[in-house]
Formats: sequence, structure tokens, C-alpha cells
Amino acid sequence: MKNTFRPSKLMLVLLLGTLGLQPGWTQTNALPSLGNSEGISLSAERKLGDRIARELYRDPDYLEDPVLDEYIQRLWAPLVKAAAARGELSPDLQARFAWRILLGRDRSVNAFALPGGYLGVHLGLIAVVGSNDELASVLAHELSHVTQRHIARSMDEQGKMTPLVIGSMILGALAISKNPQAAQGLIVGGQAAAIQSQLSYSRDMEREADRVGYGVLTDAGYDPQGFVGMFAKLQQAAGVNDNGAFPYLRSHPLTTERIADMQARLQLSSSTSRVPADLVQAMLAARAKVMSQNSVEALRAWTQDSKATSAQATPAQKAGALYAATLAHLQLRDTASAERQLQALSALAASTPEAKRLVTLLQAEVAAKQERFDHALQVLDTLNNNKPLQRPELMATAEALLRLPTHPARNSITQQLREQVTQAPHDAQAWNTLSRMLALQGQTLPALRAEGEAQMARMDWTGAVDRFRAAQEWAKSNRLQAGDHIEASIVDTRLRQVQALVRESQTER
Ligand SMILES: [Zn+2]
Repeated sequence: MKNTFRPSKLMLVLLLGTLGLQPGWTQTNALPSLGNSEGISLSAERKLGDRIARELYRDPDYLEDPVLDEYIQRLWAPLVKAAAARGELSPDLQARFAWRILLGRDRSVNAFALPGGYLGVHLGLIAVVGSNDELASVLAHELSHVTQRHIARSMDEQGKMTPLVIGSMILGALAISKNPQAAQGLIVGGQAAAIQSQLSYSRDMEREADRVGYGVLTDAGYDPQGFVGMFAKLQQAAGVNDNGAFPYLRSHPLTTERIADMQARLQLSSSTSRVPADLVQAMLAARAKVMSQNSVEALRAWTQDSKATSAQATPAQKAGALYAATLAHLQLRDTASAERQLQALSALAASTPEAKRLVTLLQAEVAAKQERFDHALQVLDTLNNNKPLQRPELMATAEALLRLPTHPARNSITQQLREQVTQAPHDAQAWNTLSRMLALQGQTLPALRAEGEAQMARMDWTGAVDRFRAAQEWAKSNRLQAGDHIEASIVDTRLRQVQALVRESQTER
């Protein structure tokens, strides 16, 4: 049975509250109007966010998937840029917050802003949207909660708890959430109600996030109809759906004011297009859908989806159904059937370059599942061009090479992984992959350091200390190779830095 008290869901309940379902919580005169309160400081909020994110990185539901990570980043980056250009996002805030999205494997429809510029997005949301614009509208709304400092202000408004106390309570709740009975007690208990009233967004904040989010969405080049599509979905779910599959509705109740505001805004805009779902979006939604699910019945059902062959289905619907069927077969370890579905998908995607690319990546996944790693490399065709690879291709190529230890391409791919982590030092998955590639080539010291850096990226300070110490020990008792001296001095510096972070986090307690 699935544990329904996954930390990610619990986090949402705790952080965003259940405004609208809570009879005791109403807007009172005691609340300052928006803009009056600065809330807690940027650095206090970032620290609180780091503490929470650190726990989420350890959550078994936390997902690293290069294909979906890239997708969400591509949607997200223009929104952040637009918010900055509009002046919603000050350079200071941009520099000091994390602006990182954490994917959760959960199939519930949910997204939430955490303190410090972290966002959580559940696969269930990616799976249910009908267009990129719809998904972007949710991200724009959440981004606006962050840029308008709603979290900080919610914490500050009643002013009774310091961020540290709140952080500790959230972390305590996270720990208890591993034990459903205890978590249930906590959620219905008085303490949880207290946390909720401290951390709820007000109705005004919801409307502000819609208003600011609308501007950000349109400036970023998305169709504002995305909001409409999303609102319609939520409205429909609110009417028919009472099973908790849409926790997003609990934290962002769709009030009549919000709907009226949005309708008024759209009447002013010139947008009329209803963008049809494209092949690529349908395939990515299908990926999210299948990856959020591990029940055999659901996977079997997707292998039989009649839309894959129906004459009435649009190309996008067909592509989504075929992608889901391929991936579901793969998860059921029926690679022969996966290959058959993939062939049909391949024909459908042939004329759309980005769709074709997703098919190639999926094809490489099928080959890897069959342990045909040479074939995976052939499919990817990543080794014969001199251009730097995009991240999903790089990660897939590296994974194949890890299974082909003597392949001549390992040096050039290791080098590309080094470039990747230089550009994105927070890319824990790339650090891990780099570490494994280095270890394979007998470069033990840099491999240990890369392991330490992966822990740093996930803000697991004690894990990082452990790895950097192991690197120091190794350096003491082994003959150093060329380049190891530099690596050893980097390790010394990094160890000192992370030890300082450990001390700092201890004094915070
Ligand atoms: Zn909201």
C-alpha cells in the first residue's frame, strides 16, 4: 500500500495550509495589507528553504530524470527571465534564492513553492496538463508567490514563531511522516493547525499570484489561455473529484474572485488562440504519467491504450499513447513489445525534430534495458559530433559507457561531464555520474572528490565531510598521479568549507 503521507504532500499541507477549508481562519483586520510587511529576511528564508530542500533530496519520491528535468527547466527559465525583466524579481532576490525545481514522483496533481526559491512539482501535474502554457501558468503562479515574498510574509504576519522554529517543526513533521500513524496524529492535532495558520497564503495573496503570474506568463511568451485551461481543469476536478488527487486545489482554492479576475484579464488581452497540444508535450506528459505509477494494472492498461491506433485520435494523442505504451512495456520488462510500439511512435514523430529526439532517447532507454549498450550508443549517435551534448544525451551516453568500460569515448564524455558540473555545480546527478566514470578509469582521488561534490549539491554536509575525508585518507596512503596534487588541495579546501557549514547548522539548532 502506498504511504499517503509522503513528505512532499505533508510539506504542502504544512506550508500552504488548507485555506478555505479551515473555518477558523479568516481574513481579519489584523492582517497587514499586501506590501506592508517585508517578512523574514532573504537570508533567513533561503536558509529555511535549504533545510527543507535537503530533506526533500533524500525523499525516496525525489526524482532525477534528465528528460523531465530538462523539460521543466525549459518552461521555467523564460518565466524567471520575464519576472526579472518586469522588475518582479530583484537582482538581489535572484542572486540569493535557489530558483530550483524539485520533481516528485507522486501522481497527485500538485506544485508548491517552498521558502528560499525552491519549487516542488509532482509528476501528476505534468501528466495532466494539456499544453505547455497550462503547466507554465502554474509555474508562473508559484514563481509569483516567491517573488512577492508571500511565504516570508505569511510567516511574519502572526510573528509568533521564528523561521527556525518553523523549519524545525516542518523537519520534525517530515521525520514523523515516515511513520503514517504518527503523521496522521500530527496533522489532525492542534500543533499542525497552528503551523497551518502560520503558513497559509491569504486569499489576497492567491489573487496577487494570479495577477503577477499572468503578466510573467505572457511576457515570457506563453499563451495566457494556459491559465484558462488550468482553471478549467481545476474547476472540473473540484466538482467531480474528492479523492485527494488534486491537492493543488486545497492549497490554491479556486475562488469565484480568482475566476472573475482572470476572465477580466483575458478580455483585455488579444489572445484568442487555443494552442493544440503538440506531439512533444503529449510525449512528455505520457512520460510523467508512466513514471509516477508503478502499479502493474495501470502499466498494463497503458500498454493497451486504444488511442494509439484509433482513427479519431489526433497525432498528439497517438504519440502520447504510444510513448506511454512503450515506457509501460519497458517497466513491465517486455522489451520486445516496447520496440514494436516504439516503431509506430518513430514513424509518427519523424517530421518533428524535437519529437524525433525524444524518440531517440526513449530508444536508447529500451536498448539499455536490453543491456545492448553498444546499440544504445549507436542509437544516440552522440560520439561522432564535436558539439557539446545536451544534458539528457550526455547522461544517457555516460550511462551506456559505464557499462562498456574500455570504450574509447569514455575520456571525451568524462570531459563533457566535467564541463557540465563546472557550468552547473548544483547538478548532483552529473557529479555522481562523473564520479563513476572517473572511478572506472582508476582516477580514485578525483572520483572521491566528485562524490563529495554530489553530496554538497544536495546539501548533505555530513555526507560530503565523509567523502572528502575519504579522499584525504586516500591521498595520504597512495602514490599520487599527475593532477592529484591539485585535486588534493581542492579537497582540503572543500572539507574546511563544509566543516564550517556543519558547525553553522549545529549552532542553528
Ligand atoms: Zn497560490
